[in-house]
Amino acid sequence: MAYYTSYGAAQGVTGSCHLLEVGYLKILIDCGLFQGRDEELNIEEFEFDPSEIDYVIITHAHLDHIGRLPLLVKRGFQNKIISTRATYEIAKLMLANAAGIIQDSKNPIYDENDVEPTLRHFGTFLEYEESMHLSDDIKISFKNAGHILGSASLKVEFKEDGMTKSAIFSGDLGQHSRIITSHLQPWKEGNYIFLESTYGDRLHEDLRISVNNFKENILNVIQKGGVVLLPSFALERTQEILFLLRQMSEEGLLKDIPVFLDAPLAINVTRVFKNFPQLLNENVQEVISNRIDPFGFDELKTTLLKEESIRINEVAGPKIIVAGSGMCEGGRIKYHLVRYLQDSHNMVMFVGYQVPGTLGRTILESGFKTIKIDDAHINVKADIKVINGFSAHADQKELIDFVKDLKNIFCIYLIHGDDDRLRIFKEKINDELESKVHIVKKKERIYI
Ligand SMILES: [Zn+2]
Repeated sequence: MAYYTSYGAAQGVTGSCHLLEVGYLKILIDCGLFQGRDEELNIEEFEFDPSEIDYVIITHAHLDHIGRLPLLVKRGFQNKIISTRATYEIAKLMLANAAGIIQDSKNPIYDENDVEPTLRHFGTFLEYEESMHLSDDIKISFKNAGHILGSASLKVEFKEDGMTKSAIFSGDLGQHSRIITSHLQPWKEGNYIFLESTYGDRLHEDLRISVNNFKENILNVIQKGGVVLLPSFALERTQEILFLLRQMSEEGLLKDIPVFLDAPLAINVTRVFKNFPQLLNENVQEVISNRIDPFGFDELKTTLLKEESIRINEVAGPKIIVAGSGMCEGGRIKYHLVRYLQDSHNMVMFVGYQVPGTLGRTILESGFKTIKIDDAHINVKADIKVINGFSAHADQKELIDFVKDLKNIFCIYLIHGDDDRLRIFKEKINDELESKVHIVKKKERIYI
């Protein structure tokens, strides 16, 4: 007998947490933070007993997939956390950073002291194309999900009444064409498919068009002598931006234009990327084969210390500043925004989705009106640009591609998506495929 229950990211996109009860084992797949409008859910107790969980399997190191691990350990989880080695290396940085923010928040569900005890549970590594037996009857394997460095989709095979059944947990899936991440590896066969459906209702802009727009926008501002602000997520998006800026540097387009990477977490995460060159795609491999740092170039200056960050203000434009956080909710980007948003020579370019309610979204929709950042009233005059095609998530076509060639599907279960989008995606699957489709509800216990 096997049962699946979602305790997070069913009819939602954050707080990923799925319980698989198979044979006598209880396996938790991801244990992420709720973010944005669901943030209040983080203070709720787990609706299962953490001390009864036999394994946690982590698909990737985004906080909405790992961010409640310290709470799980605090609540009594005692066993092993299985992940790729790259996921572990990134998780160390992400959890330490998150703990620093969470302990000062209005819901301090854990603090910095809870990180080290959590990391001790890691150390059981499973890499792409490898398998591991959790018991005589239960085998797990990973393939590359193509989402971020180290991201995996998971297959669980289990025996029941002499028959072998399988469940695939897609994890977050990437696009086929990415700037630096290697491509996802498809599965050939699976009975129950738990499919992330974040962008199940839409198609992304072509990546090449986005890359061209990204570079053109920067060149336009440089010509005006302005400042380019790039609010960026520390994990993956910053490394993509650095890779593109390195290309521009190589093409001689950034001569004497300083580029500041003003984000301590991103600086540290970039170091991890350099330790896993084999996980990056052919574009990056080509650069590495010429003994060139794919994320470094002459114009790049990293500002780890606060004093170094403050001195960026003294450097005259044109200049480029890459800083966190990606949705402008915290981090050093905020004081750069206060300083530079009021000048029409400057530009803020968003290269990631801005959740409603965040400062990033407010700026995006400001329409050159006055906005408030902390206590400052800012008259927005800078150009605001958006690049849509860098998404780390597969779009509708790519999600369909993930399942369309799979053999022996009994049912496709849609998770990780907002209700409206899930309904549109379900209709699309009904139109295009023969498979049964079901939208998973929160806490719905499903027999597989
Ligand atoms: Zn993710």
